[in-house]
Amino acid sequence: MKIAGLVHDSIVDGPGLRFVIYTQGCGLCCEGCHNPETWDYDGGFEITVDEIINQIKSNPLTDGITISGGEPFDKAADCYSLAAFAHVLGLNVWVFTGKTFEEIFTDASENNDILKFLEQIDVLVDGRYVAKERTLALKWRGSKNQRLIDVKKSLITGNGELYDGC
Ligand code: SF4
Repeated sequence: MKIAGLVHDSIVDGPGLRFVIYTQGCGLCCEGCHNPETWDYDGGFEITVDEIINQIKSNPLTDGITISGGEPFDKAADCYSLAAFAHVLGLNVWVFTGKTFEEIFTDASENNDILKFLEQIDVLVDGRYVAKERTLALKWRGSKNQRLIDVKKSLITGNGELYDGC
């Protein structure tokens, strides 16, 4: 899969100690995006899911993985494999996306890879970065429109249900 980078032992991309995968490629082009180098679908570098999994396994102190972007749902099949394996290891899965839960839920009705990936996510940080809504006050979010979504609950209702675990 094409990625922009990997970060071991992050403490800023969700709770606890995290292994972070930055996917490569995003077509949403939010004004003020902090990672414009991740937009180009031909950029980044190739790595296999197995290689990433081996790196995830290398630190037994890791609490969870975070998949960010770029746009993770553009690589749903590979991200599903990473998320499913993380759960086998007992790790939680957070995903940062520029799309809303409702947009993804609609896409999932026509794309089984997206549905399978969604079903493996614990918390979704959703929504485009909106520069005029920029805030430093909200944990893990860059603008006020973005939400922390409890994906298990949201899959039942079909709407983005807020995560209240932190
Ligand atoms: S969705 Fe994320 S990576 Fe894509 S342009 Fe917006 S802020 Fe940047």
